[in-house]
Amino acid sequence: MDSIWKKRKQQLQDFRRYLNKDNKVKKQEVPDGLYQACPNCNSTIRTLDLKNHLQVCPQCGHHLFIDAYARLDALFDHGKYKEYYTSMKSGNPLGFPGYEEKLEKYEYKTGLHDGVVVAGGRIDHMRTIVVVMDHRFMMASMGSVAGEKITRAIEMATRKKLPLIIFTSSGGARMQEGIFSLMQMGKTCAALKRHLDAGLLYISYLTHPTTGGVTASFAMLGDINIAEPEALVGFAGPRVIESTMKTKLPDGFQRAEFLEDHGFVDMIVEREKMRDTLALLLRMHA
Ligand SMILES: [Zn+2]
Repeated sequence: MDSIWKKRKQQLQDFRRYLNKDNKVKKQEVPDGLYQACPNCNSTIRTLDLKNHLQVCPQCGHHLFIDAYARLDALFDHGKYKEYYTSMKSGNPLGFPGYEEKLEKYEYKTGLHDGVVVAGGRIDHMRTIVVVMDHRFMMASMGSVAGEKITRAIEMATRKKLPLIIFTSSGGARMQEGIFSLMQMGKTCAALKRHLDAGLLYISYLTHPTTGGVTASFAMLGDINIAEPEALVGFAGPRVIESTMKTKLPDGFQRAEFLEDHGFVDMIVEREKMRDTLALLLRMHA
């Protein structure tokens, strides 16, 4: 009986590995999921402790990935909010081979229809529209659905005269949607301009990693641009730049701290101070 169980467990593990074979980053979880290793300091942390610290390592302060819903729970008063546009799903406008299968695979893996979650609720009693990009879904690349959801969120904030916060995290444009993907850059920026003209506050909160067309559009347009510690923020990645320019880039290039030193980012805020900082900024601009 014991050997059958062991064999079954092995088969399940093989199957999971097969499903995750595109994931280059190996999951560091131990099988029962009670403990996790910090990818920065390698110390063993209880998964529950990590959850209580919003996925920040209690030993070294390294910010691990936090999913969109855990972030929203921590941000809104009593973890209460309303989610919008939940049923929007990508089509395959260019007939890109294998795209539908890929979308289905990520839907199954993450339970999301796309890498963008739009929510509305109160932060310290102030009504706010919040967008969170969740890179578990195809690196939260910006296709028509991501762009449309973000645009609708901005337009809703403008219509309701509310401040807007966008937590960015993205691999950039979604290549499977070609030009439809690229036009989302202009569309989101135009909506933000109308939000700005209405005299409303927009805070961009850059999280690891924010790259490509997202950096080149709404991510850098905040009235206030905040970044999480050590977040990678850039257009092309450092390796691409090094090989194209044939130069060595300085240490910490494209990291939040480097960007703050060079005036691209207004401030770096640790995740555990996220809610208090945002509440203060909202209060100052109310
Ligand atoms: Zn650590």
